[in-house]
Amino acid sequence: MANPKPAIKYTQLFINNEFVDAVSGKKFPTVNPSNGAVIIQVSEGDKADVDRAVAAAKRAFARGSPWRAMDASARGLLINKLADLIERDINYLANLETLDNGKTFESSVVDIQASVSTLRYYAGWCDKIHGNTIPSDGGNFTMTRKEPIGVVGQIIPWNYPIMMLAWKWGPALAAGCTIILKPAEQTPLTALYIGALVKEAGFPAGVINIVPGYGPTAGAAITEHPDIRKVAFTGSTEIGHVILGASAKSNLKHVSLELGGKSPIVVFDDADIPEAANIAHRALFDNHGQSCCAGSRTFVHAKIYDQFVKAAKELAMKRKVGDPFNPQTVQGPQIDQEMFDKVMGLIKSGKDEGAVCETGGDREGTVGFFIKPTVFSNVKDNMKIAREEIFGPVQCILKFETMEEVIERANNTTYGLAAAVITNDINKALQFTQSVDAGSVWVNCYDAITPQTPFGGYKKSGIGRELGEDGLEGYLETKTISIRVPAI
Ligand code: ADP
Repeated sequence: MANPKPAIKYTQLFINNEFVDAVSGKKFPTVNPSNGAVIIQVSEGDKADVDRAVAAAKRAFARGSPWRAMDASARGLLINKLADLIERDINYLANLETLDNGKTFESSVVDIQASVSTLRYYAGWCDKIHGNTIPSDGGNFTMTRKEPIGVVGQIIPWNYPIMMLAWKWGPALAAGCTIILKPAEQTPLTALYIGALVKEAGFPAGVINIVPGYGPTAGAAITEHPDIRKVAFTGSTEIGHVILGASAKSNLKHVSLELGGKSPIVVFDDADIPEAANIAHRALFDNHGQSCCAGSRTFVHAKIYDQFVKAAKELAMKRKVGDPFNPQTVQGPQIDQEMFDKVMGLIKSGKDEGAVCETGGDREGTVGFFIKPTVFSNVKDNMKIAREEIFGPVQCILKFETMEEVIERANNTTYGLAAAVITNDINKALQFTQSVDAGSVWVNCYDAITPQTPFGGYKKSGIGRELGEDGLEGYLETKTISIRVPAI
């Protein structure tokens, strides 16, 4: 049941299984994107708090600690217990997520269900992570052990606050690491509530610590910390560069990055037009366009271009924008003033550069950060809206004629997160999937992301993979042990 006024219970940092004020005593506001009003003040973590959290995480990771001594299967039970508690409180958490983020209540529920599934998937991995025995030259007995990397820092964005937490925590906990999580400054509330569930589930103190705060302070303290062995980051490509640099300048901590995208979705002329338009519509407009893998360049074959544009426009015009707690609404506000201004600026550039604004192109209402679903046709590759990540409800439709041409144009970007092709021709599907530079390629579907499917980017869309078995690798070290076997 949607309730726009969920009682907020936790606003302090969560360190060593306790809620505590920031050392500085500072707080920062979190804002409701539906009306721009401050929801509540949250403790603002900084370097001193990250130091405290790292100390707790180090103690929790120490040899002989309850966490390290625990059977791997018991670790799995704990993760499952946390998933159960999140599921128990799904209604409350969905309301809190919608209040803080602005996504519809229904989307929050779907995100939380996916988060629960992710935690359960990784719970199952705990006692199935093992090395090999290796026939090494020279007659030694050689085996590998997979060991947790240690204390890890995790910095997540605001677009899927609970889901990004689950994508990060699942594999880290399954591997046996201990965690310092920094939620995005725009959306700290649900992570803090889940902190209380961590304690209720029975995780030993210090295994999971949550330090809300800003990027250049709390975030930077994580990336520069000498005792953090890995940082997992999801966010902008710009900050991805900063994070890799901080690792290079500090202790060469491992870094995994899930960054931006400008994902192509290619519609061939044999496609069913209404169905293709629908897939492309969802690919872009889901989560108000605030998705790193949004299908933000829709390439449509010249033969069906006009019909497709008409269908895309109709779908966008039908989209109901407004109060995310209203069950009729499918699109809430953008996250904040900064993103609102950025998206509106890119819409203006599209108009100025000669793209045709078929519908939208303006703000919705006068309060909050709402933007009308916008469709541009006649988009050319060199326009800003075709090159830059928009992260808003703005669909860009481009025209193409041949497979060779569209592959070249699809790949002509510094990004490589996702791509899709809509066709009933198996040869076209195979040619495209094998030629496009992208971490995920979807045929006749979009956003087919599940806990089992590795996800991540080529090129400047990132380093490493999350989810699936690949997602575990980033939290494990391989130790090779060779034992001399005396001759008989
Ligand atoms: P967006 O532009 O979508 O907000 P960002 O990359 O700026 O994406 O932010 C994603 C996450 O990275 C947030 O949690 C933010 O606080 C954090 N962050 C921003 N700047 C830095 C930084 N210099 N060092 C570490 N983390 C940062």
